[in-house]
Amino acid sequence: MTDERRGVVLVTGGSRGIGAAASVALAADGWDVGVNYRTRADDAAQVVKACEQLGRRAIAVQADVVEADQIERLFDTVTAELGPIGAVINNAGIVTPSAKVAEYDAARLEQVFRINSVSAFLVAGAAVRRMSTASGGAGGVIVNISSRAAVLGSAGEYVDYAASKAAVDALTVGLANEVAKEGIRVLGVRPGLIETEIHAPGRLDRIGTTPPLGRPGRAEEVAEVIAFLASDRSSYMTGSSVDVAGGR
Ligand code: NDP
Repeated sequence: MTDERRGVVLVTGGSRGIGAAASVALAADGWDVGVNYRTRADDAAQVVKACEQLGRRAIAVQADVVEADQIERLFDTVTAELGPIGAVINNAGIVTPSAKVAEYDAARLEQVFRINSVSAFLVAGAAVRRMSTASGGAGGVIVNISSRAAVLGSAGEYVDYAASKAAVDALTVGLANEVAKEGIRVLGVRPGLIETEIHAPGRLDRIGTTPPLGRPGRAEEVAEVIAFLASDRSSYMTGSSVDVAGGR
């Protein structure tokens, strides 16, 4: 916990899992937090309460981050209520049901790429338009949540998910170079197996001990890294992604 006030951070998919833990870790680190959610209003309200108990301002904002107009409303609401946004955690994401590539249909592929890749680009673009020093902004940090699967491929389960996250890794590198001179740093986190609701029932029981550290990670262990990357403590980093995957 720090007494320093860091400004305003927007966390997409902040109602549960890694996004919820990141919201609380960022509040503990001095940020006021815009907690985005899509469906789970009660969970988002609990996250807001936890941030407020740490002495920070926080609001929950419903928006589906695959829709450009909803993303604009999300950014505008957080800015109007809390102030200019200095960091964005591009976290919202889904996995598709386990299946082999030969079984995929177009609807499945469109859904996973739309929520994991297209939304990450749209949210990052909205952040850049507001933060860029070239257009009067004060600069900032974007942290994209990818997956260790982007590197490992997730064969036999969801190669489409892995590919959609590889697009996020490419976004991190490319955008970091594009906006470095506009006061914006772009970083990534690649979590491994983390205990959240994203996993199908029983999956973590089956493979949770396979990482070299012998256990799945906790959302709070990813959140600590996100908070570090969002802060000035990572001031000479941009364009890189950090694995938080227990050695996987
Ligand atoms: P959860 O399923 O626990 O949470 C997903 C969050 O994303 C929820 O807050 C959900 O909102 C939100 N969300 C989903 N779709 C949208 C949308 N279209 N618009 C707005 N919000 C949306 O997942 P995790 O916390 O596990 O995952 C967070 C990120 O970390 C994801 O990008 C995931 O791919 C990545 N990741 C997770 C790993 C893991 O093992 N857990 C491993 C590697 C990467 P709501 O609840 O309101 O519907």
